[in-house]
Amino acid sequence: MGKFSLGGKRPLIIAGPCSAETKEQTIETAMQLARSGRVDVIRAGVWKPRTQPGTFEGIGEPGLQWLSEVKEATGLPIAVEVANRSHVELALRYGVDLLWIGARTTVSPFAVQEIAESLHDNHDVAILIKNPMTPDIGLWAGAVNRLINEGVPRENIGLIHRGFSYFGHSKYRNPPMWHMIFEMRSRFPEMMMICDPSHICGCRPLLYGIAQQAADLCYDGLIIESHICPDKAWSDASQQVTPEDCITMIDNVMWRAKTTEDPEFTSELNVCRQKIDQIDSELFELLSERMRTSDKIGEIKKANNVAILQSNRWGEICRRMLSMTRGMGLSEEFVSAILETIHLESISRQNEIMNK
Ligand code: PEP
Ligand code: MN
Repeated sequence: MGKFSLGGKRPLIIAGPCSAETKEQTIETAMQLARSGRVDVIRAGVWKPRTQPGTFEGIGEPGLQWLSEVKEATGLPIAVEVANRSHVELALRYGVDLLWIGARTTVSPFAVQEIAESLHDNHDVAILIKNPMTPDIGLWAGAVNRLINEGVPRENIGLIHRGFSYFGHSKYRNPPMWHMIFEMRSRFPEMMMICDPSHICGCRPLLYGIAQQAADLCYDGLIIESHICPDKAWSDASQQVTPEDCITMIDNVMWRAKTTEDPEFTSELNVCRQKIDQIDSELFELLSERMRTSDKIGEIKKANNVAILQSNRWGEICRRMLSMTRGMGLSEEFVSAILETIHLESISRQNEIMNK
């Protein structure tokens, strides 16, 4: 098998168990996935960063041996998670084609730097970087830059979106926070972005929805956890699916074209885009007028020595706007967020006026 390249097939489908547990489980899962012809790379963790000590922390080097047998038997490239220099060296010794940096490692600049340096003399291997646990684009971008600074070619680096830790209530294990991904994509537009529905969802019923959303947003592929007997998995049991269910899901995801040359599509789109551009400029002209008016109120309050925050008046505005927008197809959440942003800006401008 030649050198594995991230620049090949789209969508790139990576699947396999969260962890390599036994030789039989690793090989049987991989064989079933490979037989379908729908999977491009087999994944399995052999070093598992776990939240709690005393849980299964990965099988270690024997797992690499099983994976090399998987590669031999299926002809598919293999992928593992690495968190330090010795992981990288061992993985490469066993012929691992694709490395990935896990979310708990991306948060640690020391660890990422060590991995980057261990690739200094091996620029051939492809490596994916998961988003950090915390919703911090700077950390994620920093990890990419550490690899680039050690000479890893940009075309050998890809990104995995696995969702972000979140303290509030969410139906997802790691809510996707899609806007973070738009920001990362605008910083590294040429870099492939793969979605990891398994770690975003943390449970089976939500997987398909996230995978389809990634396809709708033109992601470059998916990484999905699959196990011959998911309920008995030693890690991440609730989110793993059987190879059969994994393939059904992959088959059901509808991938969208990035664009089309169809002139009807282009002209329809252009009409809407012109309209949007016009609306956006009107919106900002109005906002600017609103701020100037609110500045004037600030001047009047100052001249009369009256406090800035008039909470009755603000409550009244919110109630009126929420009831007015109810029939306009705008969600209460959206209207409240906009009102709050406008209010905060008005208050801060009036504050400046008061203290002038
Ligand atoms: C994994 O892929 O099994 C894993 C540990 O994922 P994450 O780093 O996204 O938690
Ligand atoms: Mn996992």
